[in-house]
Amino acid sequence: MDPYGDAEGKEINVRFLQADSVRANFIVQNFNLETANSLRRVMLAEIPTLAIDVVEVLDNTSVLADEFVCHRLGLIPLCSKGVDDLLYSRDCDCDGYCENCSVVLTLHAKCTGNEIMKVFARDLAVSAGRPNEEVGNPVITDAEGQGSCIVKLRKGQAIHMRCIAKKGIAKEHAKWAPSAAIGFEYDPANKLRHLDYWFEDDPKKEWPIDEERVNLDGGPEQEDQEFDYDAVPSRFFFDVETVGGLDPDQIVTLGIKTLQTKLAQVIHELRGGGDNADGQDFGGAQSPQMNGGGFGGQDAGYTTPYGGGNASVWGAGNPAQGSTTPYGATPYGGAPPSW
Ligand SMILES: [Zn+2]
Repeated sequence: MDPYGDAEGKEINVRFLQADSVRANFIVQNFNLETANSLRRVMLAEIPTLAIDVVEVLDNTSVLADEFVCHRLGLIPLCSKGVDDLLYSRDCDCDGYCENCSVVLTLHAKCTGNEIMKVFARDLAVSAGRPNEEVGNPVITDAEGQGSCIVKLRKGQAIHMRCIAKKGIAKEHAKWAPSAAIGFEYDPANKLRHLDYWFEDDPKKEWPIDEERVNLDGGPEQEDQEFDYDAVPSRFFFDVETVGGLDPDQIVTLGIKTLQTKLAQVIHELRGGGDNADGQDFGGAQSPQMNGGGFGGQDAGYTTPYGGGNASVWGAGNPAQGSTTPYGATPYGGAPPSW
């Protein structure tokens, strides 16, 4: 029995199996593998979050080297709710950092007692001037309300650091990852034969089956069932776990939004929307229309943005010589470019 009445229908639908402040476990049905996997990848690597990116070390007499402490600081999860109110630092007009593109956290601790003192994430003091009251708060989920341990100090040792947290994505550095892990599975019973189990004697004994998932996916394979060569996966099991900066449902929603934005950019570019400054961002291949070349005429349509007419950067309309770089003639002969 299929627990979902409309699993054979055409409508995409989402069923939540579990959702709390840490993880979201859900099934997407009537979806395709490519899009489902795109969503997984976007949720892993392309959702903007906040993380400490620059640290000004004012004092550090702990046993840990400056770089070591800075690296630990970078990996501390910070609340990223409302991070959209911040600009990417590279898009901001300021030199270095400012209130529009960063949140400043200060760590200042000194051990004066005889006991070893632990400095925790809760000791990071967030400066005023951030766009909202949540963004930049260290994520604290433990019962003691301490957060991650950053460094231990003994009597007389001190640490004083100014941490500048910036917006970024995990493609750039893993510290900006919103999710700790994303489980992704389809066809748990391997009815589609996408998996080829390695085994010693009996794969059925050596690869235990997740009965619950198999039942959610329409039950185990029947003995006399004929193999369907045209079958494609249509039901996907996601298990999104947050590191704490965003709620799991926000990760899913922002993942969909990021994916939509990326696709919209592709559509925009394909429609020749590259007449603004953004259109020139791509250093790689460009469609011929982008630099006004177009098809036909003298221009075969394959002009690069670096030259007019038929000239490419590698030769001034004389491919046979092909020995000119954009910087001038090479020692191998050939005329310098006509442009
Ligand atoms: Zn700025």
